[in-house]
Amino acid sequence: MNILDGKICAESLIADIAKKVAGYVESGLRKPHMTIIHVGDHAASESYVRSKIASSGLAGFESNLIRFPETVREGELIACIREVNDDPTTDGLIVQLPLPKQINQQHIINAISPEKDIDGFHPTNFGRMTLGQKAYRPATAYGICKLLQYYGIPVRGKHCVVIGRSNIVGKPISIMLSNDFDIGNATVTLTHIETPRELLLDETRRADIVIVAVGIPGFVTEEMVKEGVVLIDVGINRLESGKIVGDVDFEGVAPKCSWITPVPGGVGRMTVAALMINTLTAYQNNFDLA
Ligand code: NAP
Repeated sequence: MNILDGKICAESLIADIAKKVAGYVESGLRKPHMTIIHVGDHAASESYVRSKIASSGLAGFESNLIRFPETVREGELIACIREVNDDPTTDGLIVQLPLPKQINQQHIINAISPEKDIDGFHPTNFGRMTLGQKAYRPATAYGICKLLQYYGIPVRGKHCVVIGRSNIVGKPISIMLSNDFDIGNATVTLTHIETPRELLLDETRRADIVIVAVGIPGFVTEEMVKEGVVLIDVGINRLESGKIVGDVDFEGVAPKCSWITPVPGGVGRMTVAALMINTLTAYQNNFDLA
């Protein structure tokens, strides 16, 4: 069993970005700039925001954080997004999700300029990605692809099963791995809560690669996978003890895997690295550097 180490991979990708940025700055250009809008003070979101800001510093970017209270109205948030959209000194914009109940999340995503949508959630980017066109790819899914690429895990022609169909993880990774992309051309089955248990087991037991994003600790167990499987655990679940675990029963499943991601230190780190890649691309697009 080998570990797909998201920390090592993310650090390497971010170091490469920092070298490119240093060259751009030396040539007289400003630094890339990322803006984060954060509503409320949810503990998990706070830690994700801190990690994105820290990584942007390591990549050589500048960043700023705009905070709103939990009670913010949708209109106020959209007005702020429009200001950032119109600001030529910022390249990428993240609105940290989830948002409070009074805010329609899709209205907020739709308000972000597709050119600054480094999360890759805007319908324009999602649609372009689905059609195999140039787009900011959804960050977690893109991070998973980069991790597979870094470790030289073959994807082309492999049977991949994705468990969970959320718009931010399951759906985009299933599309990306089945598309004719640099990291793609797999045969993908997308499963969800309505997938009968027997069918799910049939699929996962034959899969070369299993990607799980359901948000249920220990969901994938040893009897669900075959010997030599590559297992990507997207889940981030906080137990009552405070311990962070994924969606895989790591102790039971890891011995059967050829490769497996740890939680923490796996996909989470790669999501942030992918955001940095998308920010650099947005910057390069702004200055016609790509
Ligand atoms: P989500 O929006 O709650 O989606 C969960 C998906 O799992 C849904 O599609 C749901 O099906 C499906 N599901 C639930 N129970 C199932 C079952 N018994 N069998 C098969 N499918 C089932 O969650 P998400 O946003 O994708 O996040 C999933 C997990 O990944 C969470 O732990 C989250 O914290 C984590 N996450 C991690 C990162 C990272 O960077 N590592 C990024 C994003 C999310 P239905 O559609 O039918 O409800």
